[in-house]
Amino acid sequence: MSEPPKRRRIFVAGLTPARKIGAAEDSVPSPATAPFLIGHGYDIHRLQTGGKLLLGGVVVSEEVSADAHSDGDVILHAVTDAILGAMALGDIGQHFPPADPKWKGVASRVFVEDAYQRARRAGYALVNLDITLMLERPKVAPYRDDILRSLRQMFAARGTINLKAGTNEGCDAV
Ligand code: MG
Repeated sequence: MSEPPKRRRIFVAGLTPARKIGAAEDSVPSPATAPFLIGHGYDIHRLQTGGKLLLGGVVVSEEVSADAHSDGDVILHAVTDAILGAMALGDIGQHFPPADPKWKGVASRVFVEDAYQRARRAGYALVNLDITLMLERPKVAPYRDDILRSLRQMFAARGTINLKAGTNEGCDAV
């Protein structure tokens, strides 16, 4: 006959029961006081024939373009979301709703600059930006330096900025 399972307790080091009650609030960093913040951004758009494809504020093709409400710059949209995420300020769609005609065709650097200004007003500056771009075509290697230069300009040359570009080996949505 097997013994009934022993009741197990899980202890969280350093947290008293009183602290546990407030743990949910305590775990949310205050943008005004946290020593540094990290954000993550992601974006994807379909490509369509014609128009201009913008990446990081640079035209990399005049044969295909992103099917998007704004200029469809996936790098700048992801960077905007990363900044907003770091600041716990929601996402790009909340600040620049695609349904709002005000943002139709707007250059995406406006989104990055707006998000970054919010961070600057809270006392933060860019430390580093690491971007991974997945694209089958066109090849972006010839535009890498231009894209980095464009991004550095948006952040007034603050922080280190890196761009990694690859294909998705012909798989999936990319
Ligand atoms: Mg987008």
